[in-house]
Amino acid sequence: MRRSKQLIVLHHCLLNQNARAKGLAKRSGAIEEIVEEALQKGWGIYQIPCPELRFLGADRQPLTKTDYNVPEFRRICREIALEVAGDLEEFAKAGYEILKIVGVEGSPSCGVNYTHIKIDEEEMLVRGEGILVEELKRALLDKGICARYYGIKISKERSKG
Ligand code: SF4
Repeated sequence: MRRSKQLIVLHHCLLNQNARAKGLAKRSGAIEEIVEEALQKGWGIYQIPCPELRFLGADRQPLTKTDYNVPEFRRICREIALEVAGDLEEFAKAGYEILKIVGVEGSPSCGVNYTHIKIDEEEMLVRGEGILVEELKRALLDKGICARYYGIKISKERSKG
């Protein structure tokens, strides 16, 4: 079988909503329409590990970027970013096309354009990147890998097209 040599890179919970903090899962498992598009088009799917799962486990409460912005969590994100950038570098060297990296809007870790912060104990959605996205963009830049980043807002209903 000939390889398509085309990849999409997904932040973890787009394939596994079980990884989300308590109360935040929007689907029972994967986001079906993302998987279906990849299957139809013959794209490979690269799944980025979930940093919050590594830091606080699967039973964690939802927190904000303000809460997660501590050295230990940054270290975990940096490690994941270096690992992912290393893998993508190998694919790029072998002539694979990294079509896009897809993050999760609003996430303190994986938000691309929007993230949640806390000011005076009040949570708010603001423009900005999550911590893993910041670290991954830096790691990819260091390796000279140019990748387009998209953020999606996951809903309970399947999106059309
Ligand atoms: S940290 Fe990222 S991958 Fe993990 S549940 Fe949150 S948005 Fe999904």
